[in-house]
Amino acid sequence: MATKTKSQPEVVLPALSFKAAGNTPVQVELNLAKVLKSPGYPIVVLLLAEAVQKWTRLVVLDFTAQQVSVKFQIDGVWSDMPPLDRPTGDLMLATLKQLCNLDYRERDARQESSFQGQLESRKYKFHVRTQGVPTGERVLIRIDLPRAEATELAAMGMRPKVVERVKALLQQRPGLLVSAALPGEGASMAWKGLRAAGDRFMSDFITFEQRGAVEDDVINVGSVLYDSAETFSTDLQKLLLKEPDLIFFSQVRSPQILRQIMDIGVASQRLMVVQIEARSALEAVYRLQILGLTAAEIQQHLIGVVAHRSLRRLCEKCREEFEPDANVLAKLGIRPGRVRNFYKTFDPAPYTKVDSKGNAIPPPPCPQCGGIGYFGRTGLFELLENDDTLKAILQQKRKYPEAAQQWRAAGHPTFREEGVAAIALGLTSIEELQRLLKT
Ligand SMILES: [Zn+2]
Repeated sequence: MATKTKSQPEVVLPALSFKAAGNTPVQVELNLAKVLKSPGYPIVVLLLAEAVQKWTRLVVLDFTAQQVSVKFQIDGVWSDMPPLDRPTGDLMLATLKQLCNLDYRERDARQESSFQGQLESRKYKFHVRTQGVPTGERVLIRIDLPRAEATELAAMGMRPKVVERVKALLQQRPGLLVSAALPGEGASMAWKGLRAAGDRFMSDFITFEQRGAVEDDVINVGSVLYDSAETFSTDLQKLLLKEPDLIFFSQVRSPQILRQIMDIGVASQRLMVVQIEARSALEAVYRLQILGLTAAEIQQHLIGVVAHRSLRRLCEKCREEFEPDANVLAKLGIRPGRVRNFYKTFDPAPYTKVDSKGNAIPPPPCPQCGGIGYFGRTGLFELLENDDTLKAILQQKRKYPEAAQQWRAAGHPTFREEGVAAIALGLTSIEELQRLLKT
């Protein structure tokens, strides 16, 4: 009978099981059989089980000559995980490719596939893309999490009154409505919310996006793709033959494209909804000018800007009440007594137990958030309408910081005020709002 040596303690693997990819049922079985015997199997199980327990949506593995760096993106925030040494990383990647029915010897060409997994009662789909890069190889794993994501603006944290105003803006014709967000920061979430808000009223709307522009995200369902700024006009004219009620233009970054959207929108008397990168609603107005619109055009055609930032939502299962520091409150502009209860993420320190050898035993992670302290996201929104304040700002040609002050002074709530409201509701933490306001 074989005995285990003391230097090799048995690692208890999480009960994550896989269904491999394959072109035939036999190949699926064969791939899985090979995976189960492979030296990389425990490494893949440990990595992916940790990822799904923390509700990780994206895993990025960067292979360099020395090591493999590991990054998890959880609710829009990247975390560095402990790196793997290169031989361990290579074993893991070979197993991962086998699960995907990809060629594990191929380290240069781009390969893409997916496989399924199950941990306890939860099912996951892992989409894997590998690509050789000058420094080695880059692997991206996008995980479909079995968790409902908000698709309605109200569920994303938009106040009901603002939702009503946005819906009213979506009914105006013609005009330009802007959705402003930062890439990777819930831009696609706000986009879905606007579409959902529009859907209630409109029979037919189309999303128009540039092929390949939506790199690490899911391409919108029912979207129409265009190839380049050169073909944009022709493609858009073809699209208009379908008589859509309104068109959403995803990620507009080129003056040439914005110009054509404006001209065609005005000529066809339609509402054009464009998504642009900006940190605030007012910054989006300045961005429109950088992209070539004149102040007069903005004044005439812009009907509004909906800006969105996303914040991690405190896990309601494990968040804790606490007394924050007065200085921190002053910095955020929270008056004493304005917020009744403050919450923060669970702090395991006082619960730490020690085993018989004096080693600390961490408490079991929260079953909902996996010990992250946050679970899902909530949104903050700024709504800018084409009102007298905006008119004054455009006419006076103010610099952005002065304009921002003027806009706030006119009583328009900014992300800071909306964030304080979210803290007051216990939705998010002070740290999370500070993180957002810094970026
Ligand atoms: Zn929790």
